[in-house]
Amino acid sequence: MSLSGVKCTVSCCKYWKQGEQCEASGIQVNIDGGAAHARQSDQTNCHTFEAKHS
Ligand code: SF4
Repeated sequence: MSLSGVKCTVSCCKYWKQGEQCEASGIQVNIDGGAAHARQSDQTNCHTFEAKHS
C-alpha cells in the first residue's frame, strides 16, 4: 500500500512505485548535511531512500 499524500519522482528507490507513489511504511525527511535550517525545498531530502538492487 502506498503512502497517502506522498508524491515522489525518485524512481531509482526500491520503495518507489509507478505513478509517483511511495510504498515505504513511513518516510524520514531531513535537511541536507545535517544542517539546522533549510531555505529551499532542494535543501531537503528523503532519507528513507534505498537504492534498487538491479
Ligand atoms: S522512500 Fe523516499 S525516495 Fe523512496 S519512494 Fe519513498 S519518498 Fe521516494
